Amino acid sequence: MEVVIPDSSNVRRQLTRWLLGPDPKQQRYVLRTLLAIFGYAVGTVIVETARINGLAAQSRVWLYDLIAMTGSVVFYGIVRLGLARNQPDPALTLWQMVFASSFATLIYTLFDQIRGALIAIQLAVVVYGTFNLRQRALWGFAVYVLLSMGGTMFVLCHLMPDRFTPATEWVHFMVLVMLQPSVAVLGSQFGAMQNQLKKQRRELEAAVARIQELASRDVLTGLYNRRHAMALLDHLIKAQARAARPCALALVDLDHFKQINDRYGHSVGDEALKGFALQAQEVLRGSELIARWGGEEFLLVLHDTPPDGALVALARLRSALQAQPISSTQSALRLNFSAGVTSLSATESAAQTIQRADQALYQAKAQGRGRDVVCAEIMST
Ligand code: GH3
Ligand code: MG
Ligand code: MG
Repeated sequence: MEVVIPDSSNVRRQLTRWLLGPDPKQQRYVLRTLLAIFGYAVGTVIVETARINGLAAQSRVWLYDLIAMTGSVVFYGIVRLGLARNQPDPALTLWQMVFASSFATLIYTLFDQIRGALIAIQLAVVVYGTFNLRQRALWGFAVYVLLSMGGTMFVLCHLMPDRFTPATEWVHFMVLVMLQPSVAVLGSQFGAMQNQLKKQRRELEAAVARIQELASRDVLTGLYNRRHAMALLDHLIKAQARAARPCALALVDLDHFKQINDRYGHSVGDEALKGFALQAQEVLRGSELIARWGGEEFLLVLHDTPPDGALVALARLRSALQAQPISSTQSALRLNFSAGVTSLSATESAAQTIQRADQALYQAKAQGRGRDVVCAEIMST
């Protein structure tokens, strides 16, 4: 019996998908929710420690666990299932913070013997929002925390004056008032820095894409250049091996091009090269690849086309070039070319294929130019 050992990276990917969901954006939201759940778990350790040390009743710890678990399940469920997907705050960040802060206010009253330490929880909740909330929402939340905690302290002092004295509550409230804005300011600065970094990364990615595009193009004709054509050709040959469909390649060389330069000047020569590129793109629209191979040489790759089909396409291109002037100033000037045609083979490298097309091109030149020669045999190397 064959034993299939699961690939560990695959298992990890499956697990991540199962836990966080398939969408990378949603995964970030779920991760954020899991961070909050981790916070509740830390809270469990704190209140349990208080109980063990005789500072809290068991029933209150159970109440804490019940509320923490309910909040965790509800928020994880909503975010993981993407139920708030179409809301402005799909991660429910603000709702989670309001829940966590209200919960922290409640445990401030439930675990009154350790309530001084529990103030830190309110600060941790603000930190949670700093990376994810807009400035206004963050400040609004900070005000909510101060009002709810201040109000609760005030009420507690009146309802249970033996356990909550105004002097202690006043000190606790001052700690919140002093520290919370600092945490919010620092946090929003980090948030702004993070946004700036994100923006810079996007700009950098766009710049790299633009540079890659420029580096793959020929400046004069706008066609792909040789380097990029060679990379594409490698890729096409591999795809050809899978698809097993005919794919023709032609190496085209303009005839007597030097004479055009000599007779009419280099700028007319340039115009002719651009004109050829335009015609080739027009006539061979839908072909796999049209590239400037160098000087006055071009590479064409025609997918789903046997060499015979390539000859028909080249004949069309030749008559299009004969039909209209290639230069705005030299109306009598016409271009012609010779081409070496072959087909891609999955067993050959790009260089071998080009070499074969080049041999055929050489023959076309030798046979008098203005024609195409097919070299179908695979060379033995
Ligand atoms: P053949 O029919 O044998 O191909 O003759 P040819 O004159 O086309 O070939 P040759 O290799 O002798 O000359 C190619 C010419 O192409 C020489 C070179 O100056 C010209 N050329 C190469 N690149 C450019 C370019 O970017 N602009 C212009 N105007 N001319 C170029
Ligand atoms: Mg040449
Ligand atoms: Mg030439």
